[in-house]
Amino acid sequence: MAYNCVVLIKQVPDTKRITGEAMNDDGTVNRAALPAIFNPEDLNALELALQIKERYGGKATVITMGLPAASEILRDSLYRGADDAILLTDRRCAASDTLATSYILSCAVKKLLKRGTEAQRHRGTSHDIILCGRQAIDGDTAQVGPQLAEKLGITQITYIEELTELKDKTITVRRNIGTGWQKVQAALPVLLTVTGDANEPRVAAAKKMMKYKKARTPVEIENEMKANNPNANEQELKSLIEMKQNDLSDKGLLIKQWNLDDIEADLTWCGRSGSPTKVHRIQSVVLAAKESKTIEPSDKGISDMIHELIEDKIIA
Ligand code: FAD
Repeated sequence: MAYNCVVLIKQVPDTKRITGEAMNDDGTVNRAALPAIFNPEDLNALELALQIKERYGGKATVITMGLPAASEILRDSLYRGADDAILLTDRRCAASDTLATSYILSCAVKKLLKRGTEAQRHRGTSHDIILCGRQAIDGDTAQVGPQLAEKLGITQITYIEELTELKDKTITVRRNIGTGWQKVQAALPVLLTVTGDANEPRVAAAKKMMKYKKARTPVEIENEMKANNPNANEQELKSLIEMKQNDLSDKGLLIKQWNLDDIEADLTWCGRSGSPTKVHRIQSVVLAAKESKTIEPSDKGISDMIHELIEDKIIA
């Protein structure tokens, strides 16, 4: 039995490295001031997919919806062991809230699975497992995974801590319920949202880095060609881009890129028109550092601190 794992990954600003320049004057995030990273729990989702593939057979495909720069996390996924990667990029995705994002991702997953299913009919059996991180560290809503499962019409199991068993069409997992854990069994296909406790994501493999370091998405090729050939006219540029794309495609190094037309998305459900969330007001909260206090690492020190906190009405 082979499993067809699709992992949804997101490039996010590194919110652990927030500096004074992190916010623009209008209250929006100054993405240029923060390094972009692989959303941490998406690495756990990818790791789980790679473990399933290695243990039971199958394939791991990663998809990201984002700007051309998100190609970086697709390459990173290939370095870590993903078989295939897809960049979903389109200006018409801008201003998408979680509802529009999950709609767009659902169209991409449907296109991917439809394609897979046709091939698998000839080959025999294979079952689908969709994996998301529990939460993205920028938007922080944890809504996209569950919304995506609803739109795909499949079972969802959130907050996965461990994959206990995978046997034919049945998956058994342990999920965190805050005050403990729950063992859940479900029939495939299923969408899992994976927590940071589920595993230790592997690092990039040197051999795969050597293999995929030149892998590029079409939009990256276009941007590189424009930068490297500032004097080329439109026709020359077009043929340079085509040549480079064909060369990378022959070497298996052309990363797939889809737009909203490729995934046959209904545009009224995408971008601003597909986003019922309206941002009413943004408030910048500046946490001013106060004087620090050293507590004796003893029972008395801790007891004094608790009394002080109660007196100051910080705890009751
Ligand atoms: P969560 O729900 O916390 O993510 C859970 C998991 O879903 C992730 O771990 C990952 O596995 C998957 N996932 C989430 N997002 C993606 C993705 N893009 N690709 C693949 N997998 C994913 N953001 C912009 O970048 N540009 C905008 O113009 C923009 N406009 C917005 C306008 C409004 C009104 C609002 C409310 C939000 C806007 N956002 C925009 C933010 C955007 O809606 C969220 O970043 C996005 O919907 C994901 O939500 P989240 O970060 O809370 O993810």
